[in-house]
Amino acid sequence: MSKKTKGQELAEALTWSAPNIAKDAPKQINKAQKFCEGYKKFLDKGKTERECVNYTVTLLEEKGYQPFDAEGHYKTGDKVYFVNRGKSVIATTFGKKSVAEGVRINGAHIDAPRLDLKPNPLYEKEDIAYLKTHYYGGIRKYQWGVTPLAMHGVVIKKDGTKVDICIGEEEGDPVFCITDLLPHLAAKQNQRTLADGLKGEELNILIGSLPFQDEEVKEPVKLLALQLLNEKYGITEADFFRAEIEMVPAVKASDVGLDRSLVGAYGQDDRICAYTALMAELATEEPTYTTVTILTDKEEIGSVGNTGLNSDYVLHYIEDLADMEKVPVRRVLQNSTCLSADVSAAYDPTFPDVFEIRNSCQINRGCVLTKYTGARGKSASNDAGAELMAKVIGIMDAEGVYWQAGELGKVDEGGGGTIAQYVAHMDIDTVDLGVPILSMHAPFELASKLDVYNTYKAFKAFYK
Ligand code: MN
Ligand code: MN
Repeated sequence: MSKKTKGQELAEALTWSAPNIAKDAPKQINKAQKFCEGYKKFLDKGKTERECVNYTVTLLEEKGYQPFDAEGHYKTGDKVYFVNRGKSVIATTFGKKSVAEGVRINGAHIDAPRLDLKPNPLYEKEDIAYLKTHYYGGIRKYQWGVTPLAMHGVVIKKDGTKVDICIGEEEGDPVFCITDLLPHLAAKQNQRTLADGLKGEELNILIGSLPFQDEEVKEPVKLLALQLLNEKYGITEADFFRAEIEMVPAVKASDVGLDRSLVGAYGQDDRICAYTALMAELATEEPTYTTVTILTDKEEIGSVGNTGLNSDYVLHYIEDLADMEKVPVRRVLQNSTCLSADVSAAYDPTFPDVFEIRNSCQINRGCVLTKYTGARGKSASNDAGAELMAKVIGIMDAEGVYWQAGELGKVDEGGGGTIAQYVAHMDIDTVDLGVPILSMHAPFELASKLDVYNTYKAFKAFYK
């Protein structure tokens, strides 16, 4: 080893850059590979918010978590969970300090962009049966054509029984598909802007083409489709009005790259933070501060509804925690810290123009700390204070977490929001922290395993 020059020493002391983890700490590669085996399973088990809640509850109960009892008495290390309407879940490990000194909140979302069936979806046209959809969240519609889709959801039948729907995931299951034009006849369609490549009312899902054998029936292909659904699930056309059915990519999570350095899957925004947050929660034994791990719904359409974070369900949960210790909830809120655990856009060398590289996150450089999100001058952002940035950076540095800073794209190029603003609204110190994603919101998103692993490490350090 040659001795460092004065200039090299000075540069080391005064400058900063996020190292490539694979070069700086190659030993982490194997650990990250192992960690992501469970992550891929989590993705495959939970392709909707409801399925994600169900699998999360299974993992929580395996670790001894009990349903939360607001009248109960808990001591340090006790573990509880609360499910909100089957679509959001909160998990807590009670800490050593009183909640009056604040709780540590880690909030991720488990809904993802997809195609929802319309309330009256089924129709037949020229002897083909289709389902009408209304997309959920920000999708680039052209990406959802000619790709295999699976049907997931729930139906509440007239008698009140709930039926879980899932077609297209098991080996040998049929899948569904949206058709698109062949290039030979696409000259006119090619003139459309990319945003209109496939239009909203063209996202029609082909589900069948054989007729029910009876010449007296007016729409026999639709009838056969209904008959098959009725045989499998006991449902009728009217039951679609009492249903939530989500069409999602039928593809399973897989390793990407010859070196298997990435995970490719549907729904990584934001189940990637949900999984890392959940694993950190499960691994926490006797934390200093009580933990509040939130896996929430509805972030992709603005945190709306009573299972999204722009409702009071988390506030009510924290009120229950405060009441147990007979302390004012506002004291708990004021002293609490929240990581809004969500993904950011990873710098994409194929599309450099939309990024400002000095302030973009890059794959394999760790979790990304995002001071502010928003658009048009930080509008609809949370914009964390310097004190909070210092606190979170301090927590990560103390545990040797690889982290980087990043904002989503160039100024005025676009933007987006997270749950951060809604948590901050409760008077809680909040900052965004998550994983860089390539092809975000596409049917197949990519993330670096090293980044996943370091995000887990960051969340674990936060709950220490
Ligand atoms: Mn997200
Ligand atoms: Mn998103």
